[in-house]
Parts: sequence; structure tokens; C-alpha cells
Amino acid sequence: MPAKRRKDNGKGSDKSHPNAMRGSGAGGMRGSAMHAAPGMSGGTSMPGGGRPGGDNEGRPNAMAGRPGQGQAMQTGRAGGGAGGAGGQGSPEPPRRRTCGTLDVHHRLLIESAEYRAARADIENATLERMALGPEARFAGVARIPVVVHVVWNTAAQNISDAQITSQIDVLNRDFRATNPDVANVPPVFAGLVADARIEFFLATTDPSGNPTNGITRTSTNRASFSDDDAVKSSATGGADAWPADRYLNMWVCLLGGGLLGYAQFPGGPAETDGVVITHTAFGTTGTAAAPFHLGRTATHEIGHYLNLFHIWGDDGTGCSGSDLVDDTPTRAAPTPGCRPSPT
Ligand SMILES: [Zn+2]
Repeated sequence: MPAKRRKDNGKGSDKSHPNAMRGSGAGGMRGSAMHAAPGMSGGTSMPGGGRPGGDNEGRPNAMAGRPGQGQAMQTGRAGGGAGGAGGQGSPEPPRRRTCGTLDVHHRLLIESAEYRAARADIENATLERMALGPEARFAGVARIPVVVHVVWNTAAQNISDAQITSQIDVLNRDFRATNPDVANVPPVFAGLVADARIEFFLATTDPSGNPTNGITRTSTNRASFSDDDAVKSSATGGADAWPADRYLNMWVCLLGGGLLGYAQFPGGPAETDGVVITHTAFGTTGTAAAPFHLGRTATHEIGHYLNLFHIWGDDGTGCSGSDLVDDTPTRAAPTPGCRPSPT
């Protein structure tokens, strides 16, 4: 991720771009855009923001102070958030990348005064943090404990531990800029690539303090899920979140309607905090299916979880929408597929 500064254009309270970090913590990561993951940009978060910043051994919580990396992630519903994510829709693997994060964001903005206030608070804290300069950045590597909730209706959806591990491996390469394809970042952006200094690991201690492999498995009667958060509650056929201030919750299930995944931006309800990925776009083995078998859907969605916005600003097809990070110019829409240079 590029070490960029976020555009300070006073849009913090903008409905579409509250651009905020998950707190004011150690990060200094204001504005990092996922590079080759042209999908988003924004800031990240820290302690205080509710993200699990440390690991189970009690290391300090904090995100890396710098964005970094490049991924080939092209997500997003073109035009920005229009269109719903399918509900009990088609069970086929998605053929086109779609991301439901903005739908969730807009829903929470409408429904929750607490969310609106939290977004503003996070934004303000981020600006304050950025004002402290690079010296205030967290100097270490943030290690985030992850719990993967596998919610399955068919045996195939009950993905293997190996598939889950393959996803964690991708995340650790992408967020440390050690992914081999970082070499494909277009020259115009190459100088912005940086190590975000964020690592992920499957939790080794559950919320009760008992040993765990960081994976829960729940059978469900539901044929598929949507971005309505049903997968995040046992009462609606899903699996309950682990405490969001201690774990990054990742749900893996079958998402309908061509939806690859979605995240909740910082500032939302703890019980729905985290990311959801359809099983055929999760990891690099098992049921992961081309072209979404590279693990980049989770990279993209965790970018949102860390407060990154789509680089096209989610303003429909206009060119005025911004991701509030100044490493890339404003864009009208996402660029699908993997391309050798910006188009
Ligand atoms: Zn997205």
C-alpha cells in the first residue's frame, strides 16, 4: 500500500465518504489505498476504534502506520453500491466481482444514529492523528487474531482447514507487500507501494480463554445468504460473532446473487463487525473457483474493514467522487479484470 496522505477535503461527514479510520490509534495510516486492489482506499484503524489490534498474547494493538501493497483486486459493484446483493439468489459461483460493502454502509447510515456519530468521530480522530505526522505512526507490526466462521448448507461449503489457511497466507502476503504480483503494479504507482505492517493469524484462544484453531463450523438450513447480515447470527441461520474488539470475524458461506463478499466499515455494531466472503472466492484451494481463486476478495473486504473506500468514490459514474486518499486520481468507475496499467 502506498504511503499516502489522505485528501483532506472536509468531506468527513459526507454521507458516502465519511472516511474515517477505525479509531485514532497508532496507525497514522490515514489514507492508504490498496494498490493493486484498486478497489478502495481510506484509512485504517487503531485501538480505540474497536479493531482487534493485538494478538492473543497481549501485544500492543495498533495497525501499521502505513498503507501498502498491491493487489489485483477489482471489486465493487460498478457505479457504486447500486443494486442489492442477492438474497437467496443464484447458487452459482459469481462470474463478475461484486462487493456489498456500500449497501451495508448506506443501510447503517440510514438506520443508526450511533453509526453516523461513530463515523464522524472516527474521521475526526483520524485527522487529528494525521496531523501528528509520520513520527506518530505505530512502528511495529499489528497482528490481528482472526476467527473464520464456516456456515455451510452442503458438504462442499464446509470448506477445509487448508482452504482457510490458504486465505490467511494471501492476506499476510498482501498486507506486507510480499505478494509476488506486487511487481505488476503500474510504474506510475510503483513508488507508492509500501508494507502496511499488518498480519493476520487464526486465533489460538477463544472468547472464553480456551484453546481454539480459530475456526467455527455451523450447519445451516439456508440455501444461501445475502448482505443482510443473517449469516452473522445463530438466530437467523448463521454463526454469532466473537467479540469484535478482540477478533476479526470472517464468515464464509454461500452468498447469492453474484455477491463475492462484503464488509462493515469501522463504527458499526460489534455483533455484525467483520467480513463475509462467498466460499468459492475464499482462499486459493478447495472450492475457490477461477477467476476468484486468488484470495483477493478477502484482501479487498478487509481493506473496507480497515476503512478503505473504493477508489472510484462510489458516486455512480461521475468523476468527482473520491476515496479521500491522494495517491490516485479520481475515477469514474472500477476497472474490472487485471490490467497492466491504468486505463
Ligand atoms: Zn468493495
